Amino acid sequence: MSEDSEKKDYSDRTISDEDQSDEDNFMKFVSEDIHQCALLTANSVGDPFFPRTTQILLEYQLGRWVPRLREPRDLYGVSSSGPLSPTRWPYHCEVIDEKVQHIDWTPSYPEPVYIPTGLEIEPLYPNYKEDTVVYLAEDAYKEPCFVYSRVGGNRTPLKQPVDNYDNTLMFEARFESGNLQKVVKVAEYEYQLTVRPDLFTSKHTQWYYFQVTNTQAGIVYRFTIINFTKPASLYNRGMRPLFYSEKEAKAHNIGWQRIGDQIKYYRNNQGQEGRHYFSLTWTFQFPHNKDTCYFAHCYPYTYTNLQEYLSSINNDSVRSKFCKIRVLCHTIARNMVYVLTITTPLKNADSRKQKAVILTARVHPGETNSSWIMKGFLDYILGDSSDAQLLRDTFIFKVVPMLNPDGVIVGNYRCSLAGQDLNRNYTSVLKESFPSVWYTRNMIRRLMEKREVILYCDLHGHSRKENIFMYGCDGSDRCKALYLQQQIFPLMLSKNCPDKFSFSACKFNVQKSKEGTGRVVMWKMGIKNSFTMEATFCGSTLGNKRGTHFNTKDLESMGYHFCDSLLDYCDPDRTKYYQCLKELEEMEKHINLEKVLEDSDTSLKEIALDLESSSRGSDSSESNESQTYLLKLTSQKKHLKTKKERNSTIASNQNTREEPEVCDKGHLVQRHKQSNSDVKATNPDVSDDCIFDYFRRPFPNQGLV
Ligand SMILES: [Zn+2]
Repeated sequence: MSEDSEKKDYSDRTISDEDQSDEDNFMKFVSEDIHQCALLTANSVGDPFFPRTTQILLEYQLGRWVPRLREPRDLYGVSSSGPLSPTRWPYHCEVIDEKVQHIDWTPSYPEPVYIPTGLEIEPLYPNYKEDTVVYLAEDAYKEPCFVYSRVGGNRTPLKQPVDNYDNTLMFEARFESGNLQKVVKVAEYEYQLTVRPDLFTSKHTQWYYFQVTNTQAGIVYRFTIINFTKPASLYNRGMRPLFYSEKEAKAHNIGWQRIGDQIKYYRNNQGQEGRHYFSLTWTFQFPHNKDTCYFAHCYPYTYTNLQEYLSSINNDSVRSKFCKIRVLCHTIARNMVYVLTITTPLKNADSRKQKAVILTARVHPGETNSSWIMKGFLDYILGDSSDAQLLRDTFIFKVVPMLNPDGVIVGNYRCSLAGQDLNRNYTSVLKESFPSVWYTRNMIRRLMEKREVILYCDLHGHSRKENIFMYGCDGSDRCKALYLQQQIFPLMLSKNCPDKFSFSACKFNVQKSKEGTGRVVMWKMGIKNSFTMEATFCGSTLGNKRGTHFNTKDLESMGYHFCDSLLDYCDPDRTKYYQCLKELEEMEKHINLEKVLEDSDTSLKEIALDLESSSRGSDSSESNESQTYLLKLTSQKKHLKTKKERNSTIASNQNTREEPEVCDKGHLVQRHKQSNSDVKATNPDVSDDCIFDYFRRPFPNQGLV
């Protein structure tokens, strides 16, 4: 049956089968989802008259085998009615029954970073001291590698924490995404904590997320985590730990907040296998007595959170029409990796002309900030704004929101249950060991056979730098114009959210160690705009947000800015595009000039441009040639127009020139006008002459977008 004839059978079908062809066809683990009748696939009968397909099932009726089509795939995975697919744990992991839940909340004021006083102490704890161990989770070490998984993990009775009738705090982390290995009480109100390395490794201690009960209000407690392995940390640049109080949530509707005093990150006297350990210490007063509280490295976002979110989409009669959720594959613990196909349902065959955009997240499980950006993106793209509809009309979005659910479930920071960083294994042929990245690459490869992929972006968190920024790929072996063109999208992002996204922090190169990353592999497969987006765990050094932490709403807003920049990038009116390209060319010239002058000992270091500084009016105190250049860029930035202004430009220019077709949607311009009719106007300070100048400007690579 051809795709077209099949389409006719489903008049209300939403997204063509072509776009669902990326699933794990084998579906070997989903036996519980297969039709309950005793069915054989045509393939298994070996009848030469049947095509070798797994899509036809044979049913024994009235003494003969009758073929029928398998049920549509969306019956697998996210159920629209039944329970969520249960989370599976390595069999030996202890998991408490209690379900941990947090309310959504955004502080009404920006939360400032911590300013060190210089008086912070650096507690060092001797190894041999006989202290009181108040929490110890050793179940993780029962096996050297992954053996098999079970819903709910270990089924033997859980080791109960010691009931304290005194004022000793009680700790717990045996819940989804929890991570805490050991707690030692070293003084009446002082605790020394150890976090668990990634399961089946001895490394990657960074993520922590644990519960504290039996609290006393008004007492200064000190917590020190003693086994971090990274020498540098944002905790030394003002980042504060996150804290959540159930009583605060209940009484005042307050969720996760930044807390802590005397925060310090330092090298300590511990170590293992020739590596030094680093400590994070902070002091804190709990707001309530007998409260249940949590501390975390970043806003938790669990696999269950994702499944609930996807279920809500599936249960929504509107959003489920243009967002199809499928199982891309299963992890080695047999948890599901989901892939979302988002596009406007088309009943004709035009869908092949739509270009694709690919977004993935959470390959590194401890980088929860990437899930919040992903949530912001999905909220926006599945929303009812005209711009979102325009994007859905124009593109097919393929989204893998959580590439490493196993790691997320067990509270890893970086690895999968193979004990490996999946984002170094995109080139691996080991489908069984690294299924999610293998199937993602395969899905993209097949997609590229059918349509152009204009952008791939993998979302991450960054532990040493502030702001949000991107890594792209080096184009030095390609033509210069291509090299600069891949910087246009990040530059547009920096202009659309100058207080969060830093263009100057973006890097465009391919290090040897990064050759197995999604970004490099997709770029080598031919996706010109192939990015890793890195979001700080801390906050911003830019504009109005300078010196404050990012909260979940800030992260979610990046999802919107991503969409907005995509519209800019593909706008048939190429003004912004060429303006960005021109800026990049100018920057390149100055950087080259700097290289030339390096030998003559002329200090033009400042010309290593801080473009986002320019966007917010420059925070540079230097007064030199670079300052002049930055000011020039500032004025250029103002030349970028709001959508409304751009649309008026489009209207005034439509009769005078021909646009290069980028998004191949005849009605895009018109739709775009409607989309942005409610956008507030700002003061355009660019003359039409200037705009026309851009269009008259010859540019040899117009067709390369
Ligand atoms: Zn990462």
